Amino acid sequence: MTQRNEMELVFDSRSVNEGFARVAVAAFLTQLNPTLEEVSDVKTAVSEAVTNAIIHGYEKEIQKIYIRCRLTEDTLYIEVEDKGKGIEDIPKAMEPLFTTKPELERSGMGFSFMEAFMDEIRVESNPGEGTIVKMQKTIGKGRELWTTQSL
Ligand code: ATP
Ligand code: MG
Repeated sequence: MTQRNEMELVFDSRSVNEGFARVAVAAFLTQLNPTLEEVSDVKTAVSEAVTNAIIHGYEKEIQKIYIRCRLTEDTLYIEVEDKGKGIEDIPKAMEPLFTTKPELERSGMGFSFMEAFMDEIRVESNPGEGTIVKMQKTIGKGRELWTTQSL
């Protein structure tokens, strides 16, 4: 059984750090022995959340992004936080295809990807204060079933 384990990252909201953040979280996750697909799912979700913090939260101003990760047994919990402009209407922002930056050729699919690739996502945000995206994913789901079926 994997013991509870935590890590935190603080980094500048530069787009070059988006790759750093997703690789760092993926590296932390390896102790749960994830499949390549599970790693790729988590990397995509982290990427989307960090890109949102850079583009929407801070609107390209350079400030800090905070990532907190926690592992318990077989589940990864991730929080991505910015102290930027915040979201006025969270349910609306999370609708597929909704974007406030169509001029930047955003497709409005970031939250939909996070929802699709993680088991759960919760968004806490206040205008003028910032946004925290909380996500979780259980690793190794279905592996037992596969073993049983393959006997
Ligand atoms: P895409 O992710 O497909 O490039 P997008 O970023 O506009 O486009 P989502 O990631 O789904 O789409 O986000 C939807 C909307 O939610 C954004 O257009 C923005 O208005 C708002 N939003 C998301 N994250 C934040 C954030 N961290 N701070 C402020 N607003 C945010
Ligand atoms: Mg986005």
